[in-house]
Amino acid sequence: MSESTDTVALYVHVPFCQSLCPYCAFYKKPWSSDEEIHYLNAIKIELDHYKNNFAPITLHSIFLGGGTPSILSPKTLETLLTYIHQTFPRTTTCESTSEMNPESVTQDKLTILKNFGFNRISIGVQSFQTSELQFLGRTHSQNKVVEAIQLLHKNNLKNFNIDLIFGLKNATIPLLKNTLDRAIALEPTHLSTYALSIEDGTPFEREHVSPMDDDHQLTHYRYIRNYLKKNGYAQYEVSAFSKPGFQSQHNLTYWTLNPYIGIGPSASSFYLNQHYQQPKNLTTYCKNPIGPIPTNHTPAPNNSELIHDYISTHLRLMKGLSLANFQSRFNSNFEEEFFTPLAKLYNLKLLKKQGAYLRVTTKGLYLLNTVLLELMP
Ligand code: SF4
Repeated sequence: MSESTDTVALYVHVPFCQSLCPYCAFYKKPWSSDEEIHYLNAIKIELDHYKNNFAPITLHSIFLGGGTPSILSPKTLETLLTYIHQTFPRTTTCESTSEMNPESVTQDKLTILKNFGFNRISIGVQSFQTSELQFLGRTHSQNKVVEAIQLLHKNNLKNFNIDLIFGLKNATIPLLKNTLDRAIALEPTHLSTYALSIEDGTPFEREHVSPMDDDHQLTHYRYIRNYLKKNGYAQYEVSAFSKPGFQSQHNLTYWTLNPYIGIGPSASSFYLNQHYQQPKNLTTYCKNPIGPIPTNHTPAPNNSELIHDYISTHLRLMKGLSLANFQSRFNSNFEEEFFTPLAKLYNLKLLKKQGAYLRVTTKGLYLLNTVLLELMP
């Protein structure tokens, strides 16, 4: 992947969903055909702004996320992808991913995605237990998941990710094993497993829903790591596991703090060394889709914010944080700058030094927020 600032990853946030899941903190709203059109017009303005106001941009990855990109009507999906292709060239190896929910995987949408070079799909499965799907407010059945993934295979879209959620209050290891077995049987190249957490402003928070306690969740997390490793999936990030050669190049851009442009409401960007974010409101976004994009007058970024971002992204990776890379990027010695918190984190067995890298332990991965709070610059 190029470090050059004009070869970037593009994220497109599609803010519509069929129904709203009670645990979800992403910006989304129920789909409507009118709003889809306003959204599309605003996306075009935002894309044109990047094309007309910055050095030429080439994409090494595209990620349609949300929300539920697969809820867009075929015509809108096709227009959105046409706009992207008319705006930016892509590298010959560009990884193009679309999130899809099992109930909206259809042949016509897969044909459109393939026609625009999409070579990776990410499916929001979450669980293979009916009771867990109901608890999470998911509307698809297990059969629908199998049908959707069979359709991917039929279309030769063999590079796909399955998203799973673990750590629900009444989950057990046998149920977790069953979910993992059924996911693995569908032959994904990639699995993402997220611990259920109760996010601010969600229905689960208002209803005081609690996940399983931390000790049990950690036991389930360890189980997932070991089980997926045994089945040929190498962990490369806190929540990400892949077959050899199938790490998500798009997500690695975030986790190595390389440039990415996020378009659409709530999308964040890290471009020209600046972090910025679109409003989490479709109406506000549509009124001014170029509002937060930096100009020559935007003040230079604060170095301690960049250092914090660098630490919090690199420690997510199994590879860890390279002390040499930190030194060259910030002209600063990490071990001297963080001498006291490092000693504390080594002592708590949350962090370890291996050669020229700092890596979090299994417990540290699970308690990553605690580690990061200690390492605030
Ligand atoms: S979890 Fe996915 S499908 Fe459910 S509301 Fe959030 S974005 Fe929509």
